[in-house]
Amino acid sequence: MKLAARVSQVTPSLTLAIAAKAKAMKAEGIDVCSFSAGEPDFDTPAHIKAAAAKALDEGKTKYGPAAGEPKLKEAIARKLQKDNNLDYKPENVIVTNGGKHSLYNLIVALIDPGDEVIIPSPYWLSYPEMVTLVGGKSVIVPTDASTGYKITPEQLRKAITPKTKLFVLNSPSNPTGMVYTPEEIKALAEVVVDADIYVVSDEIYEKILYDGAQHISIGSLGKEIFDRTLISNGFAKAYSMTGWRIGYLAGPWEIIKAASTIQGHSTSNVCTFAQYGAIAALEDSQDCVEEMRLAFAKRRQVMLDGLNSIPGLSTAKPDGAFYLFPDISKTGLKSLEFCDALIEEHQVAVIPGIAFGADNNIRLSYATDLATIEKGLERLEKFVRSRI
Ligand code: PLP
Repeated sequence: MKLAARVSQVTPSLTLAIAAKAKAMKAEGIDVCSFSAGEPDFDTPAHIKAAAAKALDEGKTKYGPAAGEPKLKEAIARKLQKDNNLDYKPENVIVTNGGKHSLYNLIVALIDPGDEVIIPSPYWLSYPEMVTLVGGKSVIVPTDASTGYKITPEQLRKAITPKTKLFVLNSPSNPTGMVYTPEEIKALAEVVVDADIYVVSDEIYEKILYDGAQHISIGSLGKEIFDRTLISNGFAKAYSMTGWRIGYLAGPWEIIKAASTIQGHSTSNVCTFAQYGAIAALEDSQDCVEEMRLAFAKRRQVMLDGLNSIPGLSTAKPDGAFYLFPDISKTGLKSLEFCDALIEEHQVAVIPGIAFGADNNIRLSYATDLATIEKGLERLEKFVRSRI
């Protein structure tokens, strides 16, 4: 059988593969400490589940509009106004099967073969794969600890060519956890406007911030940048709704309309009753978001202190998300070798930085309980000491 050529150009998600391996080892009774999944370990808050269950009982089980339940689109438009100072109407919003799907819809809607998409590395691993799937070209701009793993306006300007269509901005970032300051966002916005390209702002971790860090949405900085901005967001991380598969994309009407057409022919609407849970998530109390954030803050400190006490690792302190991204170069191992040996010898699952375009790093998610974090750190220390 001959598969389509595009298939050979994409690689399966390494994060999903490692998380699955860790789960399978656990199922075999092996005592694995997994820091692999980008998934809060909390259950979805009860009031969100209750709203979805009520919708299910009420028979909200039929096809709905492909772009999403009108009530949810209204709630999202209100949220974008209130939290992010973005003035979107419900028709500027499409509800998708997760943030991943919003980004994919956008790429399919916007990127032609040969179009260039600027992606700072380390990047969330699906961005370049999505671009490849539609025949576009990812222009990877490497960043390192010296700029806090953030792209500078000069780097962005240099990467732009006449073929550039889109710049991908992700703050707080997966995998580094870094958060761009309002001044940094403003400087990037100026470059985007000057070059007249689009920016997609992936804001899925916007609620998970520490030490007074502020999230600012690039589209809120004036009409010129607003007209060139797409916002991708979702419910997975802030409300611990990873399995619900609900996200959204907001932006200029022509692009959202195109994304809705694509969705109308690919997935149709997101699970109808699940969307009612999402309405409750946005409209009811936000205490659950804060409770989870506080738990993450505590774990972050424990994990950071632990990593910093391991000679040979160097770990930047991020202000957001739930990941740490230590530099492992002193061990002399590349990231895949490091991760393979770590899981084999000490049953600790972490993600090799190569998956995010950074072979000298590993990614640890601290969206797991403190006991696992403490045990995993001890094992990691033994492993690193054995290698330096
Ligand atoms: N964007 C980033 C940076 C992510 O880390 C993730 C999930 O890991 C997503 C988007 C997609 O989230 P979901 O499709 O679960 O809403």
